[in-house]
Amino acid sequence: MIKRLPEEVVLKIASGQIASSPSAVLKELIENALDAGATEVTVKIDDPFNFRVIDNGIGIPYKDLPLAVERFATSKIEKAEDLERIKTYGFRGEALHAISQVSHLQIKSRYRNENIGGKIEVKGGKVLSLSPIPFSGGTTVIVNSLFFNTPVRKKTFDGREKKRLIQTVKTFALCHPEVTFRIDAETLPATSLKERIRQLFGESIHFNYATSERVKLLFTSAFDDERKKVSYIFVNRRAVTVSEIEKLLEELRVKNYILFIDLPPQEVDVNVTPSKERVFLKDKKVLKEIEEILKSNVSLPSIPFIREKRE
Ligand code: ADP
Ligand code: MG
Repeated sequence: MIKRLPEEVVLKIASGQIASSPSAVLKELIENALDAGATEVTVKIDDPFNFRVIDNGIGIPYKDLPLAVERFATSKIEKAEDLERIKTYGFRGEALHAISQVSHLQIKSRYRNENIGGKIEVKGGKVLSLSPIPFSGGTTVIVNSLFFNTPVRKKTFDGREKKRLIQTVKTFALCHPEVTFRIDAETLPATSLKERIRQLFGESIHFNYATSERVKLLFTSAFDDERKKVSYIFVNRRAVTVSEIEKLLEELRVKNYILFIDLPPQEVDVNVTPSKERVFLKDKKVLKEIEEILKSNVSLPSIPFIREKRE
């Protein structure tokens, strides 16, 4: 017998796709901070199930606070055509709702044009409180007791999860050098890409640099250790996996790389999975471009890293 699932079961199932892990939750919160134009993003991690993100972005209007945690409510797109040219990280209006289903979520915010801030508190999908509060500005999102009502999911995460949370912040730091990131006691001040790479990987690592209009590829042979492997692909500043590109770089024997690809938003389909970690490139010419800039920079295929130089 086929039965329609009760609403609360449907929501719990759907939330699993976005709030799949502590680091997936943190990723959504940092994306929201960056979409809000934050120039400073602070992440405080008590443990993998209790953390907060503080930003100095535009804030949320008081009357919108209940909508922020509603499913499919967003300020980032309005109509179907907008899906063809996504410029923000978010657009599905699902993340805060999903997170609020599986945690004790508090949002404090003050919208730039408003005098008073607001606070909303949601636990397991139920709004516990909504009230105006004095607030200095920006938005603070506090996630507590993550996965308190999904014990099996909670059990999946162990001591290594804290590292993954820190890695999540560092990945954003890499593609947003213009933003100051704080992770607990560590500060990465806003800077250039070159300097941010130094902040993240240390003084001694030299990256080769190959670039064209749409592609910027940094690669190094410094990390031979498989565990320390550096492999990042950013498409329009979104950390993604693109298997065609990974395959190509492997064929070209580029093992450690940071690849930035900038394409007009209409050439990238990010609406493939709810977490948006996979993207489709409509234009495959960019693959050729990567190959060409590599070939013109170093002699391939025999010794890919002969011209190690400080950029
Ligand atoms: P989406 O990012 O896809 O729009 P979310 O559920 O992540 O969906 O957020 C819902 C809405 O809440 C956003 O569209 C935005 O208007 C608002 N919002 C969430 N986080 C922030 C933030 N840090 N600063 C300002 N507005 C925010
Ligand atoms: Mg979002």
